[in-house]
Amino acid sequence: MGSWMHAILVVGAGFAGAVHARELAEHGWRVDVIDRRTHIAGNAYDEVDATGVRRHTYGPHLFHTSNERVMVWLRRFSAFVPYEHRVSALVLRLERCLPLPVNRTTINAVFGQSLGSADEVRAFLSRIAVSHPAPRNAGEYLESRIGRELTDLFFRPYTRKMWALDLEQMPASVVQRIPIREDDEDRYFPGDRHQCLPAGGYAELIARILDHPAIRISLGTPFEKRMSRGYAACFTSMAIDEYFDQALGPLPYRSLRFHHRTEPARYALGGTMQVNFTDASIYTRQSDWSLLPGHVVRATGCKTVTLEEPCADTDNNMERYYPVKTADGGPQALYERYRALAAGEPSLHFIGRCGTYRYLDMDQVINQSLQNVRAWLGLRDDADEQRAAS
Ligand SMILES: Cc1cc2nc3c(=O)[nH]c(=O)nc-3n(C[C@H](O)[C@H](O)[C@H](O)COP(=O)(O)OP(=O)(O)OC[C@H]3O[C@@H](n4cnc5c(N)ncnc54)[C@H](O)[C@@H]3O)c2cc1C
Repeated sequence: MGSWMHAILVVGAGFAGAVHARELAEHGWRVDVIDRRTHIAGNAYDEVDATGVRRHTYGPHLFHTSNERVMVWLRRFSAFVPYEHRVSALVLRLERCLPLPVNRTTINAVFGQSLGSADEVRAFLSRIAVSHPAPRNAGEYLESRIGRELTDLFFRPYTRKMWALDLEQMPASVVQRIPIREDDEDRYFPGDRHQCLPAGGYAELIARILDHPAIRISLGTPFEKRMSRGYAACFTSMAIDEYFDQALGPLPYRSLRFHHRTEPARYALGGTMQVNFTDASIYTRQSDWSLLPGHVVRATGCKTVTLEEPCADTDNNMERYYPVKTADGGPQALYERYRALAAGEPSLHFIGRCGTYRYLDMDQVINQSLQNVRAWLGLRDDADEQRAAS
């Protein structure tokens, strides 16, 4: 690894690292990017497997945004194909798959009703809601909105296996954003203007972002503190607690183990790309990659379906996927203490999902990265761009 006074070290070749690297390179900096994995693209990485189907190695990545600046920026590097994501929940007791998030169809099926309008759905939900005037956690919040039966069916076992926490141990904020729909809307992200996938996959998109003469990439290279010596700055998407050798204790993360199954190409459970398992089995959801546009790259008569089994990062080779939020605010408070430590190193900048210990979608990471670089370069963030980002 060379040392350049006019160079910057970027740790991580996921979206955060790639966007930082590209923007810095375009503003005249030499950029060294390292990643401990043997591939670029971070958790958005995808590859075509033996069944001829492109699968997302670290779980399904569905791109959706209303942020025009992000969309315009990304279109410099790839064409995008439209894809509107839909999810169904397998309800064993009813032996059928129902739309998720819960909508009118779901409610009618679960309760044997034939509610015909949003008003009727609203009135029905208010009858089954449980009174919690000031909900103190996710469980109370859900019960106060949709009652006990829907909470227990669609949220309780799923949350327990996903987070290894009961709904009562989680803050209301983690479920407040989940919509309960009074109509038959069954798209997962209906509010987003752009719902699409990069035409050639995420790995190709990020390869193009990183393709700049001033960017040098070293894969299979874990960060060591001595590496940042001599650089003007280091932008790192590594976990903030890992950087400080967990001196204040480990930040908790949930991880996932992926189980791939080969199935005949013609069969599709629920008819949706993603099916969530509401029961207490070990799996949370499955992804049928062949149902994503452009993902059957070669027809082989079969396809891969991937099941996800949540676990702690400590049980999965420290693969950190989801920062954990608890109702008592413990992990969030610990993160703030790490952030205070990081403030003592002015040329070090923590970026991305693990660097900032927040679950961020790809568009949010891209937007933050664009803003970050502009701020670091002392450039004004154009007001229009700011508005587009909000
Ligand atoms: C299962 C799952 C599903 C998701 N689905 C969606 C979705 O549908 N839509 C959406 O918008 N977003 C989704 N996301 C979020 C998306 O993955 C993130 O927004 C995006 O990957 C964040 O990019 P990043 O660069 O911060 O992190 P990452 O993609 O994790 O990249 C960080 C990189 O840093 C490297 N690294 C870490 N530590 C070191 C070290 N010490 N030394 C060297 N390299 C290191 C890692 O190897 C990794 O490649 C999902 C995330 C997960 C986990």
